[in-house]
Amino acid sequence: MIIYADNAATTKMSRAAIEAMLPCMEEQYGNPSSLYSLGQQAKEILEKAREEIAAVIGASPKEIIFTSGGSEADNQAIRSAAEIGRRNGKMHIISTAFEHHAVLHTLEKLEREGFSVTLLDVHEDGLVRVEEVEDAIREDTCLVTVMTANNEIGTIQPIREIGAACRRRGVLFHTDAVQAVGHISLDVTNDNIDMLSASAHKFHGPKGVGFLYARKGIRLSNLIEGGAQERGKRAGTENVAGVAGMAAALKEAAAHREENAAHLTAVRDRLIEGLGQIPHCALNGDAKRRLPGNVSFCFEGIEGESLLLLLDDKGIQASSGSACTSGSLDPSHVLLAIGRVHDVAHGSLRLTIGEDITEEETDYIIRSVTEVVAYLRSFSPVWRDLCAGKTKFIL
Ligand SMILES: *Cc1c(COP(=O)(O)O)cnc(C)c1O
Repeated sequence: MIIYADNAATTKMSRAAIEAMLPCMEEQYGNPSSLYSLGQQAKEILEKAREEIAAVIGASPKEIIFTSGGSEADNQAIRSAAEIGRRNGKMHIISTAFEHHAVLHTLEKLEREGFSVTLLDVHEDGLVRVEEVEDAIREDTCLVTVMTANNEIGTIQPIREIGAACRRRGVLFHTDAVQAVGHISLDVTNDNIDMLSASAHKFHGPKGVGFLYARKGIRLSNLIEGGAQERGKRAGTENVAGVAGMAAALKEAAAHREENAAHLTAVRDRLIEGLGQIPHCALNGDAKRRLPGNVSFCFEGIEGESLLLLLDDKGIQASSGSACTSGSLDPSHVLLAIGRVHDVAHGSLRLTIGEDITEEETDYIIRSVTEVVAYLRSFSPVWRDLCAGKTKFIL
């Protein structure tokens, strides 16, 4: 049995996305900036995709800029808000400690360029408090950036309320919605969002393409200079096939969102219930205010990396944190941000299930994780000390 349970890292492309892309490579391969018909056909594909994508999030097509993915959209949104702030003498930015590195590293760079950054703590339930965001807003705050849903622990933030607080105080609000778009309902108007980042490969579209929504009137700064593509805000010949694939994937995800979410939530809760029976473990993040497909646990006395390798032997592909931090020995900044101590954070497992998961696979995952955790503990010196009372259990 092979079970892909790492959909937060990337997803399998949908048939609809692949079928939308093929004609762009085989027949409609023109450059959208060319005036002859082949170019204009490509232009039409691009603009139709823009309309479809805008419709899903309640935006207008002019408010959508295509990018190379979520990271670029995050960089451009934050840099743009920072430039607007700099022009107005406002150089303070608010974010949270558990953002994606595309946000955190951009903020670190801005700090070196003279901005001041407040990173809010995340509570143990994996949620940011609206009051704390509001309290952190100062006279010189130019931007609040808080992710819609966390990529490691799946918790869904109160972005509508945060957006409302920002509106009241006249501060721009950006949200990294890469994990949320196509999975939970989002509407840039109702949710008070000024800027939003998304990435196709997180909703069954192709890799290397995403979009930035920026509300009308927000002046974007370029990360890439060159031609006048994307209203002059993102130079470079457009990734027509990628954009067409992204639109097809998003349209499909939106059309089936409720049924997919209902199915995933049921499986998720069954996994949480089943894995919760393992002694000395804890679910990371609130049990309900989380993405339909996200299950994240810490198990005391084991190493997440060993757990992953043994699960891989059993055909289960999972992760212990974000794809970006695996390969390094530092525990995940997300788990540390919600207050997990280093030792506990090291024993983490993230399962992000896909819509096609079956009941049989669900039970197989529970059985396998339970077995592997017990096996690893059977020769773990850390576990032996815990059981002998030499060190204290935390979970
Ligand atoms: C995957 C991800 C990104 C980066 O998106 P790419 O398209 O891979 O650049 C940014 N933020 C979050 C929350 C993500 O999960």
